[in-house]
Amino acid sequence: MRVGIGHDTHRLEAGRPLILGGVRVEHARGLAGHSDADVVLHALTDALLGAAGLGDIGDAYPDTDPRHEDADSSVFLRGTMSRLNQTGYGVVNVDVIVFAQEPKLGPVKSAIRANLAKLLGVSEDCVNVKAKTGEKVGHIGRAEAIACQVVALIDRKSS
Ligand code: MG
Repeated sequence: MRVGIGHDTHRLEAGRPLILGGVRVEHARGLAGHSDADVVLHALTDALLGAAGLGDIGDAYPDTDPRHEDADSSVFLRGTMSRLNQTGYGVVNVDVIVFAQEPKLGPVKSAIRANLAKLLGVSEDCVNVKAKTGEKVGHIGRAEAIACQVVALIDRKSS
């Protein structure tokens, strides 16, 4: 078994859609970035790359590549899953924390969990999604950014 950790932060900006874990979330502002800036999928991709010893999302999918402009970040996760599968690993479980002062994520946690399970090809009980505010301090608490941390466990698939 191998474990990996992922972290990401993106700024909130007017005029962008807010997409978390591949789920469109209703909010006045979205996350700024080269791709769709989905912090959850970026942190999850990094956790899986880390667990497999495959570097980071910036190595695999550079933000200087015009093909990734406004890209659906599920592309990065799907590509990483196929690399994991090629090396004989499967996902055991992932634990996800989304840090956001706003919007309130309680109502969308289950949709994010379901979508992550689908993207990873695991059952929903192997995916946990938690939401934390920033207690109104720091860049999270002032609602300037949303961040995400993920821990992922992978294992050699039995064949
Ligand atoms: Mg990112």
